[in-house]
Amino acid sequence: MRTSIATVCLSGTLEEKLRAASRAGFDGVEIFEQDLVVSPLSPEAVRELAGDLGISLDLYQPFRDFEGVDEEQFAANLDRAHAKFTLMRRLGIGTMLLCSNVGTATISDDTVAAGHLRRLGDLAAQFDIDVAYEALAWGRFVSEYDHAWQIVERTDHPHIGTCLDSFHILSRGTDLDLISEIPGEKIFFLQLADAPALTMDVLSWSRHHRVFPGEGAWNLPDFLARVVDSGYRGPVSLEVFNDSFRQSDTDRTAVDGLRSLRWLEATTADIRAATFAPARGAETVEEQYRPKDADCSRDRRRIERIDLRQLPDVAEPHGVDFAEISTTDLGAVARQLHQLDFRFTGYHRSKPHIQLWQRGSARIIVSEIDRSSTGQAPTFLRGIGFSVSDSEAAMHRAALLLAAEVPRKQTHDDAVLRGVYAPDGSEVFFQTDRGHTPGWTAEFGTLLDDRRSAIDHINLSQPAQHFDEAVLFYSSLLDLRAQTAQEVPSPTGLVRSQVMSSADGSVRLPLNVAPQATTGSKLGDLSPTVTAQHPEHIAITCDDIFDAASTARARGLDFLVIPDNYYDDLDARFDLPADLLARLRDHHVLYDRDAHGEFLHFYTSTTGAVFFEMVQRTGAYSGFGAPNAPVRLAAQHRLSSHF
Ligand code: MG
Ligand code: MG
Repeated sequence: MRTSIATVCLSGTLEEKLRAASRAGFDGVEIFEQDLVVSPLSPEAVRELAGDLGISLDLYQPFRDFEGVDEEQFAANLDRAHAKFTLMRRLGIGTMLLCSNVGTATISDDTVAAGHLRRLGDLAAQFDIDVAYEALAWGRFVSEYDHAWQIVERTDHPHIGTCLDSFHILSRGTDLDLISEIPGEKIFFLQLADAPALTMDVLSWSRHHRVFPGEGAWNLPDFLARVVDSGYRGPVSLEVFNDSFRQSDTDRTAVDGLRSLRWLEATTADIRAATFAPARGAETVEEQYRPKDADCSRDRRRIERIDLRQLPDVAEPHGVDFAEISTTDLGAVARQLHQLDFRFTGYHRSKPHIQLWQRGSARIIVSEIDRSSTGQAPTFLRGIGFSVSDSEAAMHRAALLLAAEVPRKQTHDDAVLRGVYAPDGSEVFFQTDRGHTPGWTAEFGTLLDDRRSAIDHINLSQPAQHFDEAVLFYSSLLDLRAQTAQEVPSPTGLVRSQVMSSADGSVRLPLNVAPQATTGSKLGDLSPTVTAQHPEHIAITCDDIFDAASTARARGLDFLVIPDNYYDDLDARFDLPADLLARLRDHHVLYDRDAHGEFLHFYTSTTGAVFFEMVQRTGAYSGFGAPNAPVRLAAQHRLSSHF
């Protein structure tokens, strides 16, 4: 599958965009006219630069407001097209995007539109240029892809085809079965974008909220599978207008985009493999990613369908193996863990600044760091280790999804631990699950602890501009699925919360959007300071919340204090037994209940950028006490001057 990206997706100058697309590994780009107009580079220089960078210039866009006008206007439009075709020859671009008329069309007549397109095709033929006609969702008379196709069919010109854009099609909810009626060779271009489910005018939705495939609410693999089945053989290109992307670092957006296409390609391959007899035979993932003979793969006529590559099997995690906290204040973190009845296992045998604490199968590594080396956060969640069925396959998949490996020192007899950086700079490790206590714990000593306790969930704070990227990262690398997003009121604004969880619920990562004030780090800047100012938390399960709270209190835990008003409201909502309500109030324990069970939990105060939560689940309650989140946020806000 050849990959491409519209320059409008990226921030920076045209040259920076081309370089970033090339560095990320795209095969080509679409030149967005505005990016060229403001560039000091001549068309010839752009063409040469692209050649030097090894990327193709796949499309020139957009050409607007052409068809369905009176004859005088049409003559002017044709002159405009002549100028653009001349320019495209200087750029060496062979395909132009023509959007359906939104502004100047006065004639709603497909015969007239087709006549105009036919005359455009005759002109394009003189330049050996193809024109891809796209229905904009807000087109004056043509707003549906099947309508655009009908006009192209009626035009019946070898240089006039159609462009399918997933945004314009999926935002209107048009029947996708009609795609199969378009011959693949008449689809001249394919543009993809995903989007969150929003209820708003489609133009604003398109201009500000498009995201890369896998980051929104739509089923892009199904969409791509349909286009592939039509026989379309051109590039698969990203066209995403997004306010955050345009402000983000160019390189990291390019990587985010290509990751989305790699994920999409593999997911679509899986769909098609499940639908059709396996097309690929015994070819391994390695072989699929080996560069093919370039001449052969770029010759449209010799390939029947786009060749879709798979990825190593998803490393869907079975659980959280460990969480790692780095701190300048080892004493404070150790004290809190002790208060939560974690047991000290030992120091790492060759890295004496690292400790392991355990509570049943909840394992927390605490590494002491120098204040000078930490940037802003004295205590932060450094990383998470996931139990997966095959850590090497997980790393291979992560590498193909362009995740950067964490450099790690280890002595010859240490267990091999490999991981990658998440978009927020935290570390994600993969451990092969062998169904018992992982071998690496022996490096800290031996502790027999068969208490039923585990890491229930880890709540991560994400900078707003990297939120979509984080969703794609966790879904593509670990096959975590995005649950319905929620918005939680806090004293400093609405907090957007998106739970990512594995299919069986054994791994749950609620992602929260941190306030806008933070700025993003560059792709190469992997320091974990970005999220450091926004507390993240590790939730641990226990069998008896009151027992855990009593122990914690006896050991002097600094609880997050919950106001009386909360308990009065709780009583009104749930009509709880008086003694239970009193115990909840006394222990600062919060409560929630649904049709499946109950959820009881308390929080610690925050150390640096980390706090803990102890939870007790009964029945099949699978939530996170969402109604209590505003109470927690307000309580933390009252204390925020302390950290
Ligand atoms: Mg488009
Ligand atoms: Mg929680």
